[in-house]
Amino acid sequence: MADTERKSALVTGATRGIGRAILERLGREGLFVVGTATSDDGAKAIEAHIAEIGIDGRAFVARVDDSASVDALIERLKADNIAPLVLVNNAGVTRDNLLLRMSESEWNDVINTNVSGLYRLCKPLLRGMTRARWGRIVNLSSVVGRMGNPGQSNYVASKAAIEGFTRALAQEVGSRNITVNAVAPGFIATDMTQALTDEQKQTMLTRIPLGRMGSVEEIAHVVAFLVSDAAAYITGETIHINGGLYMA
Ligand code: NDP
Repeated sequence: MADTERKSALVTGATRGIGRAILERLGREGLFVVGTATSDDGAKAIEAHIAEIGIDGRAFVARVDDSASVDALIERLKADNIAPLVLVNNAGVTRDNLLLRMSESEWNDVINTNVSGLYRLCKPLLRGMTRARWGRIVNLSSVVGRMGNPGQSNYVASKAAIEGFTRALAQEVGSRNITVNAVAPGFIATDMTQALTDEQKQTMLTRIPLGRMGSVEEIAHVVAFLVSDAAAYITGETIHINGGLYMA
């Protein structure tokens, strides 16, 4: 594709937290951004945010844990002539519990959303990237995918799977000039970490050499780099952004 042609980026889970910051950052970089939400209100909030900050984009409802919902999104994108060459698989959930108490639905919800969501989105969007002979896929992993974390065996398994998936797919599509990478955030201030008790947060902070939580913008910055031409020779990699909590 011509370098001057405007690219579209699809960011899943763009209503809040890291996804919202990524959508905003990629929009400011000049991409046409498409964000997903799990509700109509969420999609409206994304479109209001896009309008407010003056970037170009759209928002649609899609649940990555539901094949029919993802299929409907893909059809909608086609109907609207939007062919994303950048895909950021950001949507993710936790259902924390010790394994001995973990229900099958807590296990399945996390695997189905965090891991199978990648399968559902990458497969159809790779067709357009292959045709364009250019593409960028960035998957959100987590520091715990490497460190482990008690009470999160489902989430940790999902994030380790995402990193393996990233390496395998990078090998499959590299010849088409499509890069596939992961970013592994540490302890970032969002709704997901808001659920922790003050004591848990304090304990975590003592383990971080930089002594603070990370910001959503610090994650978005690295995603924007991986999407840029400057990162054209990086693929199959996981970039850790964790203030030194874990040094790979
Ligand atoms: P949040 O909980 O703040 O936001 C989650 C986003 O995912 C929301 O936009 C939500 O949409 C969307 N979402 C949830 N379930 C689904 C679903 N089934 N289908 C589609 N979208 C869904 O998360 P964060 O911003 O904290 O995390 C973003 C990513 O970064 C996740 O993959 C997470 O695992 C990872 N991460 C986060 C860390 C942190 O410290 N915060 C650390 C390491 C990794 P809606 O608002 O409509 O519900």
